[in-house]
Amino acid sequence: MTKHTDHFALSVWRGEFLSKHTESDYREHVKEVTARHLVVALRVWAFLLVAFGWLDFMALGHSDGFYHLMGSRLLSAFFLLSFSVMVKYRSDLAKDGVGVSILEVLGFLLFFIIYFVRPDIVSWNIGVTVIILISLYIFIPNRVVHSNIVAFFGIFGTLYCLFLLGAEPPTLVALFFILCFPTIVGYFAATRLNLASRQQYALFMETVQVNQSLQAEIKRREALEVELKLQATTDPLTGLLNRRQYENLFSREQERVKRHGSKLSLCVADLDHFKRVNDEHGHDAGDQVLKHISDLFVDTLRHTDIVGRFGGEEFILLLPDTDLDNALTVISRLREKLQASPVNVGDKVLQVTATFAVTEVVAEDATIEDVIRRADKALYQGKEAGRNQVVAS
Ligand code: GH3
Ligand code: MG
Ligand code: MG
Repeated sequence: MTKHTDHFALSVWRGEFLSKHTESDYREHVKEVTARHLVVALRVWAFLLVAFGWLDFMALGHSDGFYHLMGSRLLSAFFLLSFSVMVKYRSDLAKDGVGVSILEVLGFLLFFIIYFVRPDIVSWNIGVTVIILISLYIFIPNRVVHSNIVAFFGIFGTLYCLFLLGAEPPTLVALFFILCFPTIVGYFAATRLNLASRQQYALFMETVQVNQSLQAEIKRREALEVELKLQATTDPLTGLLNRRQYENLFSREQERVKRHGSKLSLCVADLDHFKRVNDEHGHDAGDQVLKHISDLFVDTLRHTDIVGRFGGEEFILLLPDTDLDNALTVISRLREKLQASPVNVGDKVLQVTATFAVTEVVAEDATIEDVIRRADKALYQGKEAGRNQVVAS
C-alpha cells in the first residue's frame, strides 16, 4: 500500500483512493457513468445466458434436463434484467458494487447447476468459467475487492462441483492454477483501469479547486478595486464626491457649455455657525449633521445634479442644463427644505441652516476655481447679510 498523506493518494492494490471520503466522493461523481455501463453489462449477460440455451437444446433436445436448465437460465436472465432496470432509475445501486456482487454470486450458483445436469460438457464449462472470471473484472463495473471475492467464490465453487463429480485432487490443484490465471490477469487489468480513472478524477478536482481559488481571488480583487475606486472618488464621512472627482465632472460639463452652449450652474453651500454645533454638541454630533445634510442635498436635487464636499462644512452643487434663474429657484427650495428639516442627534434636535451662493458657468470661465471665486464673493455677502439665504452672482 502506498503511504501518502494527501487525500488523493491511491491504494495500488485496491485500485481505490486511500481516503474513504475521497473514494466515496469519486464514486458519487462517476455513479451515472458506472450505472450506464452496468446496465449494458447486465443486459448482455442476460442475452448470453438465454442464447447459450440453444446449445443445451442441441445437446439435450426436449428433455427434463433441458427444461431445468432453460428454466434456470430464464430465471437468471429475469433477475439480471430486473436489476438492470432498477440500476437505470437508481444509479446509487451501482455506487458501491454490493448489489452486482450478490448477483454475480447467484449467477455462479446457477451456473454450477450445469455441471450436474450436463456432466458431458465439463471441459466446455471450465472454458466458460475462464471467460466469466475475466468478465467479472473487465466487463462488469465493480470494485476490485468485490470482484476478487466473487472470483474466488467462483473458483472454489467450480472446484467443489468437480470434486463432487469425482475429479482427483491433482486435477483439482491443476485446475485451481488454471483458473487463477484469468483471475490475476483480470485483477491487474481492472486495477490499472480503476487507478487511471481515479488519477483523472484527482486531476479534475485539483483543476476545479485551482479554478475556485482563482475565482475567489478575482472576486476579492474586484471588490478591492471597487473599494479603492470609492476611496479615491468619495468623501468617507458623507459618501459625496470628493474634490478631485467633482472637478473632473465639472470639466466634462464645462466642455458641454463651451461646445454646445448648454447651461451649467454652480452653487457653494456653507453651513451657518457650524462651529457652534461642534462646540455645543461635540464633533460627533457635527459629523452626524454633515451626513444628514449631504443626504438631504442628494435626495432633494435631481439625479443628474452633482453633489460634492468642498471641504469642512462646505458643499459644491453642480446643476447641469440649468441657467441662473432656474438654479436660484432650485436652490431656494433646497434652503427652505434644509430649514424645515431639523436634525436629531441623540436626544437633541438641532436646527441647521446654510448660506448658498449661486452662479452660472460661462464659456469665459477657464477653471472651476474662477467659478468658485465668484461664488465665494457672493457667499461672503450672504453671510454678512445675515446667513440662511441664497445669493446670486
Ligand atoms: P459661518 O456661518 O460663518 O460659516 O460659521 P461657521 O462656524 O460655520 O464657520 P467656520 O469656518 O468658523 O467653522 C467651520 C467649522 O466646521 C469649523 C470646524 O470645526 C467644522 N468642521 C469642518 N469640517 C468638519 C467635519 O468634518 N466634521 C465636523 N464635525 N466639523 C467640521
Ligand atoms: Mg466654511
Ligand atoms: Mg460655515
